[in-house]
Amino acid sequence: MPLIPADSRRRIGSPNRSIQRGFTLIELLVVIAIISILAALLSPAISQAREKGRQAACLSNLKQIGYALVMYAQENDDYLPGARNPGTAWCWATLLEPYQGGIQKLPCLTWKSKGYWHTWSGTYSYNLYFGFWNAGTWVYNLRRLSQFRRPAEEAVVVDGTGLTAADINDYFGSDYGIPGGGNTCPALHANGFNALFVDGHAEWKSKAWIDNRPGGDIFWSPSP
Ligand SMILES: [Zn+2]
Repeated sequence: MPLIPADSRRRIGSPNRSIQRGFTLIELLVVIAIISILAALLSPAISQAREKGRQAACLSNLKQIGYALVMYAQENDDYLPGARNPGTAWCWATLLEPYQGGIQKLPCLTWKSKGYWHTWSGTYSYNLYFGFWNAGTWVYNLRRLSQFRRPAEEAVVVDGTGLTAADINDYFGSDYGIPGGGNTCPALHANGFNALFVDGHAEWKSKAWIDNRPGGDIFWSPSP
């Protein structure tokens, strides 16, 4: 006698058990629309997270430049590099190359993605008050690290460079952040920028903060 009744031995998939149908066009369109809405909702969050990562990497770059500056000073009687020599044989970035392998290898990815780049200094600018370049203007004395009276407030290197590869603005002065100034601060990091200070710390500053610095402010023109 069979253990299973005859009428329950039909195989799954037999003609009278399988009723299959595909998605209708409307259902497919609804699914696609839902996926598109979800992607649109997530997109700003993803790009915001990516920018936060770039901002943090930029801050880390500046700290590495800070280490290179200290090593340079240790081998040069406590002097920091000048911004640019009278000719064009070197600028601050070329002087630091032996200590960190080239600032071009430490780009700020946000600036680079916007097309800001300089062949010498990558995406960063140096305080032009650290000396000299006598053909046009500036000419300031080179500074010793131990000379600075307020090293935590005096900036050495900031986020930002000339607007094109041919632009020579690897330096910043009191026109930094001023529209039409020689060097610009378009505030690409969360409406602000990163800066390295003489004491070696690097910090994010807001565009509003930089806009309120007077021309003679210590941020631009450090203590002698
Ligand atoms: Zn940056």
